[in-house]
Amino acid sequence: MTESALSVALLNEQTAILLSGITGLVMPSLMVVYKATRETYPGFGLWAAAFVCNGVGSLLLGSEAFVPIWLSLWLGNILILAFPALLALGLNVFLRRPTRWLGYGLSVILYALIQGVLIIASVDAGTRSIAFNGFVLIYMCIFGWNIYSYASRISGKVDHLALSVVFLSAAICVVRTVNILLKSSYENPVLYQDLDTLFILLMVLASVSMVIVIISMNQQRLEVDMHNVAKALEEKTSALEDLNQELTVTSLTDFLTGIGNRRFFDSEYQSVWSRSVQDDTSLTVLVLDLDCFKLYNDSMGHLAGDECLQRVGRLLMTHPGLRGSLVARIGGEEFAVVIEKGADEGWALAEELVSRVASLSIPHPSSTVGPLVTISIGVATRLPNDNSGSKLLSRADHALYHAKTAGRNQALVA
Ligand code: GH3
Ligand code: MG
Ligand code: MG
Repeated sequence: MTESALSVALLNEQTAILLSGITGLVMPSLMVVYKATRETYPGFGLWAAAFVCNGVGSLLLGSEAFVPIWLSLWLGNILILAFPALLALGLNVFLRRPTRWLGYGLSVILYALIQGVLIIASVDAGTRSIAFNGFVLIYMCIFGWNIYSYASRISGKVDHLALSVVFLSAAICVVRTVNILLKSSYENPVLYQDLDTLFILLMVLASVSMVIVIISMNQQRLEVDMHNVAKALEEKTSALEDLNQELTVTSLTDFLTGIGNRRFFDSEYQSVWSRSVQDDTSLTVLVLDLDCFKLYNDSMGHLAGDECLQRVGRLLMTHPGLRGSLVARIGGEEFAVVIEKGADEGWALAEELVSRVASLSIPHPSSTVGPLVTISIGVATRLPNDNSGSKLLSRADHALYHAKTAGRNQALVA
C-alpha cells in the first residue's frame, strides 16, 4: 500500500481508525451520563447508538482483532443508521414540531423513498453514495444549525463552539463526497487515503465538539430554568406582599365611613401616646358620640342612619384642622380624634365640630335635643402624671358622659 502523506505526517490510518472507535464509544457514553439526549433533540438516541456501533466496528478494524472483516465493516458502516435520525432532527426543526415520532417516521419514509427511487432508476452504487452524501451534508448542516441556534437562544449569545460544529459537519460531508468520488475512480489512491484519514479525524473532532456543546447547553438550560423559577418566585412574593398590604389596609379601615377603625385607632393611638410622652408634647383626645342615634335609626331607618354616620365621618376626614391627626370610628356611632395639641386648641376644635355637625342640617325629628342631628364631645388632655393612654381615653369618655347628662349637643372638658 502506498504510504499516505497525511498518515505519515500526523498519524497512521490504523491509529485514526482506533481514535474514531474510541470517540464513537466514549462520546455517546458521556451523553448518557450527562443525560444530554433527554428532551434536547429527538433522534439523539439513535445517533448515539449508531456511533457506538461505528466505534465498536472501527476498534475491531483498527485493532485487527480476530473477527470476520465483514463484521467490523458492517458495524462500522452502521453509522448510516444515524442519518435518518439526523434527517428527523432537520425535519423537526422545519416543521417546528419537536415531536420525536413524527420526525422519525417522516425521515425514515423519505430516506427509503429517495434510496428506492435511486435503485429503481438503476443508478450505480457510487452515484447513490454521492447522492446519499449530499443528503447527509444537508442534514449535518441543519443539525449543526439547530444546535447552534438552540445554544445561542439559551445562552443569549453566539456559541462559537456550536458554530464550529456546523462547519465541521459540513466539512465532513464535503470530504466524504470527494472521498467517494476518488474511491470510485481509484485514480489517486494516496489522496484517497489522506482524505479517508481526514474524514475520520473530522468525525472525531465533530463528535467531541458536539458533545461539549450539548453538555454545556444542558447546563445553561438548567441555569435558565433556575433563573426563571427565581423570577417567578420573586413575582409571586411581590404579589403576595401587595395583597398583604391591601389586606392590612382593609383590616384597618372602617367599611362604612372609610376612615380608620377601632383596630387602627388602638395601634396608632399607642404610638402617638408614646411619642407624646417621650418628647413631652401636648396630646388631646376628643371622643365624639351622636346624640339620640338610636331614636334616629328608629324614626328614619337604619339606611338613613348609615348615611348619617358616613356624613359625619366625611366631615372629620375633610376637616382642615384634622389633617394629619388621628381620626377613627371607634364604636357604632362613636368617633375619636387625637391631636398633638393642648387643652385650649382641643376645646376650640371640639366646639367647632359640634357646630359643624349641627350645620350639616340632617333632620332628626325624634331627637330630644332639637330638630337636627347633633353630637356631644368629651375632651381630655394629657397631664404630666398621666401614665397610660387608656387613662386619658377614659377621662375623655367620662367628659363625654357629662356632656350627655348636661343636655347633649355640646363639648365638655374632663
Ligand atoms: P346617646 O345620645 O345617649 O348617645 O343615645 P344613643 O341612642 O345615641 O345611644 P345608644 O347607645 O342608646 O344607641 C346607639 C345606637 O347607634 C344604637 C345602634 O342602633 C346605632 N348604631 C350603631 N352602629 C350603627 C351603624 O353602623 N349604623 C346605624 N344605622 N346605626 C348604628
Ligand atoms: Mg354611643
Ligand atoms: Mg349616641
